[in-house]
Amino acid sequence: MLAVQEAPSKLIRGLGNAVGPQYVYTRAADLASYAYDAFGASGDREVPLAVVFPQTTEQLCHVVAECAHHRVPVIPRGAGTGYSSGAIGSGAVIVSMVRMNRLSEVDTRAQRVTAEAGVITSAIHHAADAAGLYYPPDPGSSTTSTIGGNVACNASGAHSLRYGSTSDYVSDLEIVLADGKRLAIGESYGGGYDVAGLICGSEGTLGFISAVTLRLITAPASRATLRAVFGDMQSAADAVAAIAKAGVVPAALECLDTAAIDAVRNSGVADVPEGVGAMIIAEVEGDQRVTDRDAELVRSALLEAGAGEVDHARNPAEANSLWAARKGVSAAVATIMIGKVNEDVVVPRDRVGELCERVRSIGVEHEVPSLVFGHLGEGNMHVTFLIDPRVPGERRRADAAAESLFETVLAMDGSLTGEHGIGTAKVGWVERQIGAGTIALMRRIKEEFDPAGLMNPGKKIPAERRSR
Ligand SMILES: Cc1cc2nc3c(=O)[nH]c(=O)nc-3n(C[C@H](O)[C@H](O)[C@H](O)COP(=O)(O)OP(=O)(O)OC[C@H]3O[C@@H](n4cnc5c(N)ncnc54)[C@H](O)[C@@H]3O)c2cc1C
Repeated sequence: MLAVQEAPSKLIRGLGNAVGPQYVYTRAADLASYAYDAFGASGDREVPLAVVFPQTTEQLCHVVAECAHHRVPVIPRGAGTGYSSGAIGSGAVIVSMVRMNRLSEVDTRAQRVTAEAGVITSAIHHAADAAGLYYPPDPGSSTTSTIGGNVACNASGAHSLRYGSTSDYVSDLEIVLADGKRLAIGESYGGGYDVAGLICGSEGTLGFISAVTLRLITAPASRATLRAVFGDMQSAADAVAAIAKAGVVPAALECLDTAAIDAVRNSGVADVPEGVGAMIIAEVEGDQRVTDRDAELVRSALLEAGAGEVDHARNPAEANSLWAARKGVSAAVATIMIGKVNEDVVVPRDRVGELCERVRSIGVEHEVPSLVFGHLGEGNMHVTFLIDPRVPGERRRADAAAESLFETVLAMDGSLTGEHGIGTAKVGWVERQIGAGTIALMRRIKEEFDPAGLMNPGKKIPAERRSR
């Protein structure tokens, strides 16, 4: 039974005055839907005091000021697709940004578009595409995630190897601070510190992102997609080195290990060969001459590294079919097991083969099936432990496996997160990753933005250990 705390009636009245009472949820059944995100879907639940849905920045300012007045924690929430328990919190007011969903016309001369925080990421892709432009960041969740959530987590995607992450496309931001005041920051207001850069990846701990102006780029004239299969993951990792040596920076260089390939095949999500140890999907882009040249260089490098076969898509339909295995992994996994713990660790990319071996041993040791897939070109790998959260002890075993994984990754000079963020899921580990000095500086920055500590507390920065 989930513990439901009653919200103070004055706070609820104030929130209702700000957004309209029908946009304030307080019933237990409604709150239950906001007690978890994609990470907690397989376990953790934290029931908020209330969920509020502002439609304008003015309403958002009122909501935040009201929470500040009542000294109640406030948590921004986009689509809840986050994998780090960042958009939940018991005893807090959750502010859902989904009604702030207006998207401007694309300015084709300036190559800019402005979106309110609740705009779905794929709407930005479609708008850019319709204007003959390109918005490269493409998290696997783009048909669901919000642009505000992407900025807050500095989301990456399959094409980040060449094009970078969300923050590389943020030109300006409108933010709402912990006291309810709004501020415009970014390159149009240049000359100061890069405060917009600080907000990117701040996971809702410094303020709300209410709107974002994004840079778009000219769409590449042509694209080639290749898929190669290998006997093992180390050969696939060797192919990355061979591609780099050939002087090509692919737009995407993704991979699946043998367990992920089996999941995709057994679920029928995509047509993939049997008995394969690893798979790479590579994409190159540019004008036709560059694309043809790079596709040939990548093909040779894949074969040189030991690829059994290399498929080369000649049109968008064939490309979609080659991508289906990679894009379908999450759906495939859901058909095998109803729950998972999915971690986005990074290791030096020449050590991905070693990581996969270690993940297999960790899975065996903790008795949880595992699979690995992700952004091979950046060594940013999604390690997934499969569980049935209804079975007592399974979530705990998967959490223990994740802890072993974090130990392993830190010992390999890697990183705890490539794109999903810290939230509460990795907050116990972050100090080991980035050091006590940086954490102390982050605490001081947080205090400057949020002196009362009400903005998404407990996320990203570990609580200070007080000596007695
Ligand atoms: C199937 C699947 C595939 C995924 N693939 C990728 C991937 O390829 N790359 C990747 O980077 N991530 C991926 N993710 C993780 C997730 O989609 C991203 O982190 C995404 O950016 C979260 O967006 P959201 O709108 O769902 O945010 P939420 O989950 O609602 O929130 C995430 C965090 O951002 C904060 N936040 C949300 N909106 C705002 C705002 N307006 N202002 C301030 N803070 C805010 C929240 O407080 C929370 O801390 C995937 C998730 C799933 C389920």
